[in-house]
Amino acid sequence: MTTHLVLFRDDLRVYDHEALHAAVAAARQTGGRVYAAYVLDEESEEVRPLGRAVKWWLHHSLTSHSQALKELGINLVILRGKTLDTVPALASHIGATHLHYSRRYALPERTVDTALKDWAHAHTIEAHSYTGFLLHEPWVVKPASGDFYKVFTPFWKALSAQDFPAPLPAPHPLGEEHLAASVLPESVASNLPGLTTIDGLTLLPTRPDWTVGLKERWTPGETSALKTCRTFVESTVHRYDEGRDRPSQKATSNLSPHLRFGEISPRYVLHALHTAQEPTANTASFASEIGWREFCWHLTFHNPNLHNTEFRSEWQSFPWLTGNQAPQELTAWQKGLTGVPLVDAGMRELWETGHMHNRVRMVVASYLTKNLLINWREGERWFWDTLVDADTASNPCNWQWVAGCGADAAPYFRIFNPLLQGKKFDASALYIKRWVPELVGADARTLHTEHPKGFGFSAPDYPVPLVDLKASRQEALDIYKTSRRDVLSKS
Ligand SMILES: Cc1cc2nc3c(=O)[nH]c(=O)nc-3n(C[C@H](O)[C@H](O)[C@H](O)COP(=O)(O)OP(=O)(O)OC[C@H]3O[C@@H](n4cnc5c(N)ncnc54)[C@H](O)[C@@H]3O)c2cc1C
Repeated sequence: MTTHLVLFRDDLRVYDHEALHAAVAAARQTGGRVYAAYVLDEESEEVRPLGRAVKWWLHHSLTSHSQALKELGINLVILRGKTLDTVPALASHIGATHLHYSRRYALPERTVDTALKDWAHAHTIEAHSYTGFLLHEPWVVKPASGDFYKVFTPFWKALSAQDFPAPLPAPHPLGEEHLAASVLPESVASNLPGLTTIDGLTLLPTRPDWTVGLKERWTPGETSALKTCRTFVESTVHRYDEGRDRPSQKATSNLSPHLRFGEISPRYVLHALHTAQEPTANTASFASEIGWREFCWHLTFHNPNLHNTEFRSEWQSFPWLTGNQAPQELTAWQKGLTGVPLVDAGMRELWETGHMHNRVRMVVASYLTKNLLINWREGERWFWDTLVDADTASNPCNWQWVAGCGADAAPYFRIFNPLLQGKKFDASALYIKRWVPELVGADARTLHTEHPKGFGFSAPDYPVPLVDLKASRQEALDIYKTSRRDVLSKS
């Protein structure tokens, strides 16, 4: 008889889950048993502790996943602590013969998983890792020169030419008896390091409970992920190109937090897309966004310090301001009180719902790094704490892209003008007025025009602009020129 332990981390689903599928199939063949464990490991070296919005999501996602596994006849054990302390103890207690898990790609997590595999081998436990989080492993495509792609277009051309298998169904249930047998006996439970419950992880805020807006907007979990995907590919993707940049429209998929937690696999999403639709410009654009997610992980796999080091080394000496050097500006940005309507709308949407429309993310990031000259790391950290889709690849990559220091980045001199962006993508100011109630009575055209003293004439409660957009833009360009000259003279 074999005993299989499946580890879950950012892959909280039962559909298209290679590790779970393999474990159930093998257990069936030998009359063996399947155990499942989720490990919350924020303690291993260099692992980045989760942000607060992501923790809220995780609580609900685990609740849903635990129920889905129960329906398959598998009990989900919850562990907290260093993977290398908790998993070996559980594996030994249950007499695991096999360990199965989806691969992870950030360096601290890879280091942990490699050490776990070594431990398993040393204890004659077979360890198997699988693709579960990405379409393809980050090392599958390689440019003719160099180790990895630095530009998105050739990367996506090479990656999208690769085939991927059709998604797997959920495994057949193992039954009630198996479920009862996979619950840890009390004698084991009381001795197991790190053993806890979903509530015991204390992922939810208590006082104050700031998650009302998150609850209204989202339903975490695999069932909701599959439904969101189906609705999008069947009824929305046909207007993706036309609507995706307009924040007041519901034209994008809203799949990012579901993908972040692996409640749905990118293979499943693309398979559903191509099953529901003939290829069009809209389907290609949407697929290429999934491609951007892959690109961020490709870059992160090959550049493990991307979350704290500029990809382009010439930017490492750029004189960004720290949060301590510009505390009032940073706080005004975080609270949506900059006096720039589109920026404030985005920051308030983020605070309220744990999400922000992609176009607006670019605008607020450009405003922070270029008009306020504040270090992109401050923005990245705020997003890390407040986004429900924050992850260790997409967040830093996109911040570096907007700031100008990332791979394939927007040139520094491309400074988004938040008023022109508002005029182009939120002409009637529906999005602005949705999130900034002080501006409800203002004329939309007025909101897309610079008023040095703000909108006090029509919205007395709304703050005056923190900085003059034209002057701060010019200042940023001047600093950039000087900084480039310094770098060139030293090289
Ligand atoms: C400064 C900044 C920070 C960001 N931080 C994150 C983050 O932490 N996590 C995250 O998932 N996305 C991040 N993004 C990318 C993007 O804004 C979101 O993925 C997108 O808004 C999610 O909405 P959606 O699911 O409706 O996207 P759709 O337009 O429906 O796209 C489908 C999927 O493609 C992926 N995707 C789309 N755009 C990007 C992109 N630029 N980079 C990487 N993947 C992408 C997402 O998984 C998304 O769910 C960031 C963008 C910026 C400018």
